[in-house]
Amino acid sequence: MKIKVKTPIVELDGDEMTRIVWQMIKEKLILPHLDIQLEYYDLGVKHRDDTDDQVTVDAANAIKKWGVGVKCATITPDQDRIAEYNLKKAWPSPNGTLRAILDGTVFRKPIIARNIQSAVRSWKKPVTIGRHAYGDLYKSVDFVVPGPGKAELVYTSEKGDETRLTVHDFKGGGIIMGMHNTDASIRSFAKACIAYALDQKMELWFAAKDTISKKYHARFKDIFAEEIAKADAQLKAAGVNYRYMLIDDAVAQLMKHEGGMLWATTNYDGDVFSDMVAAGFGSLGMMTSVLVSPDGKYEYEAAHGTVKRHYYEHLKGNPTSTNSVASIFAWTGAIRKRGELDGSPDVVRFADVLDKGIVDLIEEGVVTKDLVNLVQPKPSGYESTAGFIDRVAERLSKTL
Ligand code: NAP
Ligand code: MG
Repeated sequence: MKIKVKTPIVELDGDEMTRIVWQMIKEKLILPHLDIQLEYYDLGVKHRDDTDDQVTVDAANAIKKWGVGVKCATITPDQDRIAEYNLKKAWPSPNGTLRAILDGTVFRKPIIARNIQSAVRSWKKPVTIGRHAYGDLYKSVDFVVPGPGKAELVYTSEKGDETRLTVHDFKGGGIIMGMHNTDASIRSFAKACIAYALDQKMELWFAAKDTISKKYHARFKDIFAEEIAKADAQLKAAGVNYRYMLIDDAVAQLMKHEGGMLWATTNYDGDVFSDMVAAGFGSLGMMTSVLVSPDGKYEYEAAHGTVKRHYYEHLKGNPTSTNSVASIFAWTGAIRKRGELDGSPDVVRFADVLDKGIVDLIEEGVVTKDLVNLVQPKPSGYESTAGFIDRVAERLSKTL
């Protein structure tokens, strides 16, 4: 008897090696056990090109409608890809389009196995990073000051009143930059972080440099504090604690901490520290990612790309050993969330059993090549792409 999933899940297919892995996961792990309706959107780069990228917009709207989606990694085309796939143009990053339509925040979380030692000895639990994905450095204007002169910041209100601040009186050449953010975007971000911390029952950290940036960074701190105050009863009931810290303090604390927190970061901090945390935990193949909108829509995916190098090997007929764990966890993330929203404990259990089976296998030393040098004691060999998924499938059928 297959387990019935009441509401459809939106499926976003993708490119290259991850597209091949995706198909295997569906055939070997999902469809044999779940009676599930998948609303399918092909975000493979050729189909995005054929539809003038309309398929990405349709997929985002479907996630808005149904609430839960799962996405395979996709190519963001550059000039080389336009030539390789004979595309009409360099279509925008599908993840950017999804984020904009869902007004979402991306949370990245590593998958932990006991025999994979993280680079930071104290880290025992996942460190999740929530990155604000709007404004600051990424929407800034900057200018090379050619020589002596005065640089000012000017705001003109709708009515025409002017506010002027001197940035610097230059005696010679130099540089200036103007950055902005909006209350609405910061508030959405704070809400999404609070919702995710509540969902995962994790301590929530937010850090900035408000001692120095008494207006800009302080605005982030204040909006967070306001949203935290609004959610006070829920946070208390869930036992979720909020900590505001100075950014340098947060970085120092993190290195001594056992993990298990959600660290909400400003855009630049998130860019830098999410790569630091990912490297600290080992392999890109073990990092998951979820896009959460402030109104509670969820899109799950692996944090890595389409693993192009492996795909080219595969096309040449060579064996591959691509880690499918983050892609499988994307599926189980979506399935678990669907089960929770539908009130279907057997669906939630399926996701839990599949996740645990994978971690157990890794802890027994059954791994793909990327993990061989990270696992202690070092395994004597490794599985192929399909071989690993077969081992997972075998374990799943036994334990369900
Ligand atoms: P990538 O797919 O992240 O892979 C980079 C390298 O990391 C691989 O060559 C491989 O190292 C290792 N790696 C990543 N995931 C792995 C896994 N699951 N198992 C084993 N090793 C893994 O980046 P890329 O190959 O440079 O980028 C390919 C395409 O992905 C680009 O077109 C880019 O636009 C796209 N991309 C998409 C997303 C997304 O959809 N979210 C995110 C990032 C990039 P070795 O070669 O050493 O084995
Ligand atoms: Mg980065």
